[in-house]
Amino acid sequence: MTTFDVDLFVIGAGSGGVRAARIAAGHGARVAIAEEYRCGGTCVIRGCVPKKLLVYASRFADDFEDARGFGWSVDEPHFDWSALIAAKDAEIARLEAIYCTILARSGVELFRDRAVVAGPNAVRLETTGRTITAERILVATGAAPNIDKALVGREHAITSNEAFALTAFPEHIVIVGGGYIAVEFAGIFRGLGARVTLVHRGEKLLRGFDEDLRAGLGHAMQSRGITIHANSVVKQIDKTASGFAAVLSTGDRIAADQVMYAIGRTPNTSQLGLGSAGVCVRDNGAVAVSESSQSSVPSIFAVGDVTDRKALTPVAIREGHAFADTVYGSKPWSVDYATIPTAVFSTPEIGTVGLAEHEARALHGAIDIYKASFRPMKAILAGRGERMFMKLIVAHDSQRVLGLHIIGADAAEIVQMAAVALRLGATKADFDATMALHPSAAEELVTLREKWVAPGEAAG
Ligand code: FAD
Ligand code: NDP
Repeated sequence: MTTFDVDLFVIGAGSGGVRAARIAAGHGARVAIAEEYRCGGTCVIRGCVPKKLLVYASRFADDFEDARGFGWSVDEPHFDWSALIAAKDAEIARLEAIYCTILARSGVELFRDRAVVAGPNAVRLETTGRTITAERILVATGAAPNIDKALVGREHAITSNEAFALTAFPEHIVIVGGGYIAVEFAGIFRGLGARVTLVHRGEKLLRGFDEDLRAGLGHAMQSRGITIHANSVVKQIDKTASGFAAVLSTGDRIAADQVMYAIGRTPNTSQLGLGSAGVCVRDNGAVAVSESSQSSVPSIFAVGDVTDRKALTPVAIREGHAFADTVYGSKPWSVDYATIPTAVFSTPEIGTVGLAEHEARALHGAIDIYKASFRPMKAILAGRGERMFMKLIVAHDSQRVLGLHIIGADAAEIVQMAAVALRLGATKADFDATMALHPSAAEELVTLREKWVAPGEAAG
């Protein structure tokens, strides 16, 4: 019988890799993991967690303004970027240490090195040159930010990676992209006081999201002072005496302190040795895997962003957990990709679960739509004009709620719980029968009575 150094070698100590490693070890497997940067991966080190801390920081601007409407006198607030980054860095270091401790306590051996696949059952550590044999290998290497290859002056562009560690706060930042990261960082920098120009190649932000959310967020961001150049791309970035200039496809030239790219991410499979081991990689660099995260080589599995299924932390974690339970715990299960709730931490925030209107129409034909747009209670005394928007999409025949979409404060918190109802197959009648919690914004979701009728359409 062949003996291996370990049962499982995990490449990448991020969300998916750490979960898989510790669960597999808990089931009795001998597990090693390699991390080339910092334990915790994108989410902890330069993704969800630091991003949310910066989002919190940026929203104090509204709180200071709104407090006046509630009788508070607030001196002119002063913001210190260096203090925020230092506090954020300390918190990230604390979390990173927790991740290392979790691995150690679980009995997982950590190699702080870049690892590459050296065969179906072997991994090579790049710094030491050591080869470790493993019965199975789990690729959990995540993804990295893209910068347009055709961009002239691309060396001047930053991505979210660098945005978290800027030494000086940019007075004016150009952000390229119209997805999650672009709109989240636009809100962060705007809230903290920067001038923000968003350059997006499409007509509307957040492709794939419900059209009402796309339009609503675009308007709200512009009302908050963010300049949006739609249908435009940056062709060139010039270094200038005072910073940079982004030259757009429209001919506009925008001077800025930073130009940040947020145009998607590519799975980290380059130079990873997958091809020589016979692992099929898709055109976009993602490892092709089965429902059970197995690659074309039976001993090699992959989870998380590197598989480009749904690039969200909870999904990577579940994929890692399902793999470990299935292979090492005799508890086979696979991830359910239906009804994944997601939030965009723009300001205002978006929370969404289930089908967008266009998807629901395509899949179910006849649907009923309910919408509410209102000024939340807090906005009245604060004198804030921004409205909250909620939308329910219901299958006409079964009356099952297919989609729920919100723009406004705490949208993420509301949608997390609403996702339970959608997952259980709640109908509109179930929503109606649920007692309202008053006064709250979320009570609107259980008091929506009038079907929305498109202008010019007769009520059904
Ligand atoms: P990662 O967490 O990226 O881990 C991969 C690890 O592998 C990294 O630590 C990397 O250094 C390491 N690695 C790579 N190659 C090697 C190698 N050859 N050898 C050794 N180590 C290697 N998701 C949400 O759900 N909510 C959010 O709010 C959210 N916000 C985000 C904000 C930003 C700015 C970004 C960029 C992402 C955000 N995401 C969010 C997405 C989320 O971070 C990812 O989906 C998640 O981290 C994926 O986990 P993973 O385990 O697949 O990869
Ligand atoms: P997204 O896929 O969300 O958005 C990419 C954006 O870049 C789109 O607007 C796209 O336009 C545009 N784009 C793509 N290629 C080009 C190009 N060559 N030139 C100009 N524009 C281009 O990617 P992000 O980088 O924002 O985020 C990556 C992923 O990370 C997200 O999809 C999400 O899964 C995850 N994430 C999750 C977060 C959360 O849960 N809150 C937060 C941040 C990231 P078009 O619409 O035309 O395709």
